[in-house]
Amino acid sequence: MQRADPDPQDFARVLSSMCTRPHPAARAAAERFLATNPGDPGTYESVAALEREAVERLGRVASLPDPEGYVTSGGTEANLQAVRIARNRARGRTDDPNVVVPESAHFSFSKAADVLEVELRRAPLVDYRVDVDAMAELVDCDTVCVVGVAGTTEYGRVDPIPAVAALAHDADALCHVDAAWGGFALPFTDHAWDFADAPVDTMTVDPHKLGRAAVPAGGLLARDRSLLDALAVDTPYLESTAQVTLTGTRSGAGVASAVAAMEALWPDGYAREHERASAVAEWLAGELSYRGYDVVDPTLPLVAVDLPQATFEALRECGWRLSQTGAGEARVVVMPHVSREALSAFLTDLDRVATE
Ligand code: PLP
Repeated sequence: MQRADPDPQDFARVLSSMCTRPHPAARAAAERFLATNPGDPGTYESVAALEREAVERLGRVASLPDPEGYVTSGGTEANLQAVRIARNRARGRTDDPNVVVPESAHFSFSKAADVLEVELRRAPLVDYRVDVDAMAELVDCDTVCVVGVAGTTEYGRVDPIPAVAALAHDADALCHVDAAWGGFALPFTDHAWDFADAPVDTMTVDPHKLGRAAVPAGGLLARDRSLLDALAVDTPYLESTAQVTLTGTRSGAGVASAVAAMEALWPDGYAREHERASAVAEWLAGELSYRGYDVVDPTLPLVAVDLPQATFEALRECGWRLSQTGAGEARVVVMPHVSREALSAFLTDLDRVATE
């Protein structure tokens, strides 16, 4: 039989992934619901009910009362669907829609722009966060969506969401927040804005990242039903009459495991993990700075460090699963499986390969 990749024993060496070992309850729930299809709620009623519960629980994480949404295959689908909502709602207003994103936006927005044939405009950053004044200059009467990222993929930074949302609102565009990775950490930080404070319309929050659900469990949330209705297509051969999801048949495993993980961990379990991960990230950043490496200060628990290319490659040869930012820094994402002990071993390897 093919070995799973990465082997569970080696998970501690996986430093750049934004996925992690599922919580045991999430793993068990995923197995129980493996053969169910929430894409056909008329037939698979229990998993359909669980999906409503998943959205409700995700709404609590995102401080969104009466949330709408669904469990996607991941952040890519959720981001694409958010752009699709914005584009479809602006039909009749513009034939040439554009979406304004920070330069730090995940590459899923490039896929969305390509598939949906909208123009993608990238706003520059200041200190790894979007420059809202520069973003405003890119917004015009054809802008259908303005995006903020809450937990960037490369540096874990959080854009000034209230200002981004105000900008979108003033332009009669939708505001989408991509909190695919950061969503389960934000409630325990200074960035715990909520939908009421900032007029955010849609949000990506992925249970299969910091939420500790099994893959595939992304999350798309919307402020109200009319936003989701912009995605509806008729479904003649199913018992339900319309579908808003991008995929048809979907895994019930992701839905059930998302509910199980949130039931087990919201809010105290996630709060404790955020506290642990933040302390580990601060400690690692300090250790790396002390050794003379340039470190991008962590906001959420992600440490980016400028290592010589040869050192980076030597560490990968030691078995450390590391990736690099576009600018070449190594990324250490302090996920629940990344322990201080493992990072001490990482530093020992770093010290050794750096002097070879
Ligand atoms: N958005 C952000 C901020 C991400 O970091 C990622 C992936 O790491 C995505 C979206 C895409 O998520 P997925 O890989 O689950 O499609």
